Amino acid sequence: MEKHEHEIARQVGMRHPKPVRLREVREGEGLPEPDHQLLQRVAREAGAALSPTVLPERRRKMASKSDVQHSGVSSIEDLASPLDGCNRECVMKIDPQILKALLPIIHPLACTWVEKRFAETVATGRRLETRELEIALEVRVRHPECVRLSPVKTLPEPDNQLLQWAAREAELITPKTWGLTFFYGVVMLPGSVSNCAHLAHELHHVAQYESLGSIDLFLKVYLAQIAHFGYDQCPFEVDAAKASAPFDANQAGG
Ligand SMILES: [Zn+2]
Repeated sequence: MEKHEHEIARQVGMRHPKPVRLREVREGEGLPEPDHQLLQRVAREAGAALSPTVLPERRRKMASKSDVQHSGVSSIEDLASPLDGCNRECVMKIDPQILKALLPIIHPLACTWVEKRFAETVATGRRLETRELEIALEVRVRHPECVRLSPVKTLPEPDNQLLQWAAREAELITPKTWGLTFFYGVVMLPGSVSNCAHLAHELHHVAQYESLGSIDLFLKVYLAQIAHFGYDQCPFEVDAAKASAPFDANQAGG
């Protein structure tokens, strides 16, 4: 590194700038990326989503003041560009291949989280009322008497960062989500409890849990479906949408 680069290195807190070797990437060559396709995708997508800012703003400002001029590398911003790429707004959705590869890790985390929410909702929620029981039967819930409904102001999100990230990236939990179903425990935003179509949708998920018999198995199938088809097209969601559609019509008709 040249003298001014040594100064920059010290300014950004590097203790031993001497051993650093700087290689300028030739035009069209591109920055090195992992050969393994999956690792490459994880580096691109998960890395970008998990670390939206890499350089602290303070250092960026300090560094950009230096007017570094030499061939190919015109400023400190260029020197920092491999990291800076992560500073863009991270709206990228997870690659299904990554989700598939992460399933063995995500599945047990999801089970633990759903089991906890199930226990909590069943303990605190209320029983279904007459009309709600009818809806449950119509969307094929076998034991509607077991369902507990809990209206909540904000929907719960996983504490575990990886699970939370995956749930958001896979669009399982978005700002538009109105309810979540944890086997017989259904949590819904207050406005959605009185919406028959929304309730029917969640209750159909209860029926799906029932047909598979356990949280573990439901999540195995559901998460695999999402990894394969995406949230909107996953068969469990498509079925829930179909089951609740007649209630949407009822709703529109008053
Ligand atoms: Zn759903």
